[in-house]
Amino acid sequence: MAKISIDLKKGSIHKEAPKEHIIGIDLGTTNSLVAYVEDNQAYTIADSCGKSALIPSVVYFDHNDEPHVGTEAKDKLITQASRTIYSVKRLLGKSYQDLNEVQSHLGYQIIDQDEDQLVKIRVGDKFYSPIELSALILKKLKEMAERHFATSVSKAVITIPAYFNDSQRQATRDAGKLAGLDVLRIVNEPTAASLAYGIGTSREDAEVIVVYDLGGGTFDISILKIEDGIFEVLATNGDTFLGGDDIDRAILEHWIKKYHITNLNDNKSMVQRIRLLAETAKKSLSIHQYFESDDGQFQLTRTELNQLIAPLWQKTLSLTKACLEDSGLQLDDIDQVILVGGSTRTPYIKERVAEFFQLTPNDTLDPDQVVALGAAIQADILAGNRKDMLLLDVTPLSLGIETIGGLMDTIIPRNTKIPARAGRQYTTSVDGQTNLKVSVYQGERDLVSDNRKLGSFVLSGIPPMATGLPKIEIQFILDADGILRVKAMELRSGIETEVEIKSQYGITEEEMAHMLLSSIQNAQSDMDTRALIEAQTEAKNILVHSEKFLLQNASIFDTETQEQLRTHMKALEVAIASADKDLINTKMEHLNAFSAPLAQIAMDYNIAKALKGKSI
Ligand code: AMP
Repeated sequence: MAKISIDLKKGSIHKEAPKEHIIGIDLGTTNSLVAYVEDNQAYTIADSCGKSALIPSVVYFDHNDEPHVGTEAKDKLITQASRTIYSVKRLLGKSYQDLNEVQSHLGYQIIDQDEDQLVKIRVGDKFYSPIELSALILKKLKEMAERHFATSVSKAVITIPAYFNDSQRQATRDAGKLAGLDVLRIVNEPTAASLAYGIGTSREDAEVIVVYDLGGGTFDISILKIEDGIFEVLATNGDTFLGGDDIDRAILEHWIKKYHITNLNDNKSMVQRIRLLAETAKKSLSIHQYFESDDGQFQLTRTELNQLIAPLWQKTLSLTKACLEDSGLQLDDIDQVILVGGSTRTPYIKERVAEFFQLTPNDTLDPDQVVALGAAIQADILAGNRKDMLLLDVTPLSLGIETIGGLMDTIIPRNTKIPARAGRQYTTSVDGQTNLKVSVYQGERDLVSDNRKLGSFVLSGIPPMATGLPKIEIQFILDADGILRVKAMELRSGIETEVEIKSQYGITEEEMAHMLLSSIQNAQSDMDTRALIEAQTEAKNILVHSEKFLLQNASIFDTETQEQLRTHMKALEVAIASADKDLINTKMEHLNAFSAPLAQIAMDYNIAKALKGKSI
């Protein structure tokens, strides 16, 4: 792999290897696209038939379990429903528990094991993760680009919705790696759309942009502030089940009523045929005023269609208003509106958006391609071809400190924009503790021993206090050059110390890939270990407190009660030694249940004692 050095200030990457194409990928729920930049102009790449740049995000596994991606897979959606996977993006980075609302919408089988694990999809007797399935789609796009350039392609920028959480972002990045792509950047879709329109490409721009994205099955609204080349998502909202498909369904229902069509329940292919015709009518009415099917059986006017679209527009409008409110801005703070997604071709939607924002929306680019084109521009910036542009980088691996039990406590998560600053408060674990060792680590695993140690230092001179009283603030300050400074302060006494740690860019791509891979492979065992260590730590704390309680209140309780409490404490001690998380939790519950009324009695007694002789 070529050695890469990143100039964070200039936002460029220097590599010793010969110039290589970096592609931009829009990994969509319904369709995906791949694009590139040549001579400052962004282009999408069409499929092998040269017809369309839109590759359906669908994977079909044939009876030899061979995957097929794109149009040929989409064709199997009805005949091979259980072997054809669509909408994988909805499952990325999600656990079974997260999917309760989504499951009824899917035609394939999600296996239902442990609620907290990431989902898997069952096809025949094989199981696939959404990361593997997304990787298959990305591989197809990579191959399209390789065919186009007649050379291998290994670097990419991939877009994701602005609301994706860290686990969804990581899943996207991991899918890229699995597809053999070095994912240089994960970019928010609305940011990419703005870049495609050239917004934010010059340092003088300071604008507030609304990105209204209405696709086939999802609606996203985002408000961005762009200043000094920094894209900040101020607010985002949306509905993951709202889009052009709903318009098709509304037309279908309208025709069923209008033409008194019956017996559709027994005739699925008939429903499918009319639904496809409804989509054709909708698209045609984006240009014409009147639609009639070839056989003359179905008609629809633009006015009728507008009436059918109105409720959908209203739904997007209330989400838009909520987003605006969250951003804390007023309508007249908005400088530009960008339209994304095939459904924004509908004149009714365009007009309503323009009317609401009192602005002519940016719609000169193909709304299906905007995001991919923007991703390609971002890739071009990363390739160092647009020297004028300032870019923010992200930290590729999480940064955190070691806490009790050797656990990693992440303070700056991976993919955070840098410069970044984050802090968290800790306390001591031993009475009278005057020193605190702070060990800084980098990596995604739950145990620090599996991550990479960056350095450690000691905060000394903490005035002796009881456990839990000192308030120790640990701050991570990561500057634009990737240099990490760690500050530790005891807030009650004001003592502080600070060290500088040279951060993550010393790590090679291979090392990073290895660390990510092992974090995926070991996710379950890491989770189990973490749960056990947390239970053990909590149990030990409870024992310390119980011991103190017994000592302080020996005079209040009779020997029998004290003995019973000691028996519960002994049982918890045995459970801690057994390393059985469930047993520890059970014994903790028993001890708590027994000691809670005692604590109440002790409190009442002590209050009564304190108030003796005083009147309120
Ligand atoms: P996307 O998810 O962005 O690919 O959007 C696809 C959606 O856009 C589908 O619901 C299409 O029916 C819809 N669409 C595509 N072209 C048009 C058009 N000309 N007019 C209205 N809707 C369209």
